[in-house]
Amino acid sequence: MLGRIDPGQKEVTVVGAGIAGLLAAYELDRKGYEVTLVEAAPRAGGLIQTERTPFGIAESAAHSILVTPVIERLCEELGVELVPVRKESKSRFILRDGKLRKFPLSFFEAVWAFLRAYFVLSPKEPAPECMTFQGWAERFFGKPVARYLMTPFLRGIYGANPADLAVSAVYPALVVPRGHSFLSWMLRRAFRKGGSPGKAAPKPKRRLRGMVTPRGGMQSLVDALDARLVKSLGARYRKGQPLAELPASGNIVLSVPAPAAARLLERESPELSRALSAVRYTALAAVTAFVPRETAPSLPRGVGVLFPDGEGRDSLGILFNSSSFPARVTDEGKWASFTLIIGGTPRPELVGRDDGALEEIVRNELRTVLGAPEVSRMVIRRWEQAVPRYDFDLQRAWQVARETWCSQPGRVLFGNYTGQISLRGMIESASGLAAGLHS
Ligand SMILES: Cc1cc2nc3c(=O)[nH]c(=O)nc-3n(C[C@H](O)[C@H](O)[C@H](O)COP(=O)(O)OP(=O)(O)OC[C@H]3O[C@@H](n4cnc5c(N)ncnc54)[C@H](O)[C@@H]3O)c2cc1C
Repeated sequence: MLGRIDPGQKEVTVVGAGIAGLLAAYELDRKGYEVTLVEAAPRAGGLIQTERTPFGIAESAAHSILVTPVIERLCEELGVELVPVRKESKSRFILRDGKLRKFPLSFFEAVWAFLRAYFVLSPKEPAPECMTFQGWAERFFGKPVARYLMTPFLRGIYGANPADLAVSAVYPALVVPRGHSFLSWMLRRAFRKGGSPGKAAPKPKRRLRGMVTPRGGMQSLVDALDARLVKSLGARYRKGQPLAELPASGNIVLSVPAPAAARLLERESPELSRALSAVRYTALAAVTAFVPRETAPSLPRGVGVLFPDGEGRDSLGILFNSSSFPARVTDEGKWASFTLIIGGTPRPELVGRDDGALEEIVRNELRTVLGAPEVSRMVIRRWEQAVPRYDFDLQRAWQVARETWCSQPGRVLFGNYTGQISLRGMIESASGLAAGLHS
């Protein structure tokens, strides 16, 4: 989140009712602000939508959340039931040499990675804060880690190759200053944190840990927020009304994608508008496939499998929906559900292919990787602007925002491009927004 609320002004206009706008409006309304929420589309939720089919549900974007006490609190308040990953299905796989592996490195590769992490110092060039994830991973851990751990992991979250992402944008805490190796820097940070005197804050009680999802699909979180806001804001909640200009309001929270924010800010902050126009997005398709169980008796159990380069796969990975969470299919005995993520920076051209071509890719991936020869139904969602690219252009936009429009109290940018791409980060940020924490 960029900017902060002006607590001296009780009026807030939130533009955009994707998950970020809904969360911001909900938290500010709870704190007693007079919130107006304006959404361009006839429905709230933005990228998030859960389609119901006779076979089960299909998510269009977010599938799961890494739970924290703040998320538990929010869902309890909203009456949204969260379900954890099933105990017997916690395994995550990476494909190597065509096989699903829980740990894709050999013993020698792992030892080599540890030695590099301990002994190799941060380079003179490029500067630590100018490293791509590819350069960072190869430098501190070696090529096997970059290829078999970092590439699948980052593709799974950002739909992008490590060479397209800046370490300082994705995980600033991982930037290793000059004169340190990765491990020496991490140890120093850990000692500094652990060494601070004073009583540790009591840890909040937690019922859930790890990945969770709403039992009824992500739409149930959107629906619960939407219903609360309809009731609480009344006529101040307007859908089907795209804003063409910035509203006149003491507090403005722009929760629209970067290109839309750039258009709204053209007149009031041309410099920020130009910086936001340079933010790039990655195109993705999410295809959910329902597989008849009788045709594939030995499907693997787990959360999913991600693909590194060089495995000859057309997708970035496969989520095992019905294996990891309950209530993803209408009949567990009959169907298994999988979602394949296609495109991203490795293969952007695939997203524009017609349905037949995407279906062919999905059939081939399921047959070859999981041994599932048949698919009963597929649900295809394409996003030209699926996820923002966490690169140096985005970092520059953050800097310009902090120096210009967002430097005034009551001017906030909030969405998946403002430092938190996941729902977990957005939920945590929204609760901080209402408490006046961001800047
Ligand atoms: C395939 C895929 C899988 C994902 N999986 C996960 C996952 O498992 N877990 C996770 O945490 N995250 C996941 N994500 C990310 C997550 O879904 C998104 O980051 C999040 O939904 C984005 O929310 P947002 O509110 O920032 O943006 P959006 O959803 O894009 O909402 C922006 C809203 O602004 C509105 N708007 C635009 N212009 C205007 C205007 N001028 N006036 C008024 N309104 C306007 C739009 O109509 C829209 O409703 C995934 C994303 C994708 C694409």
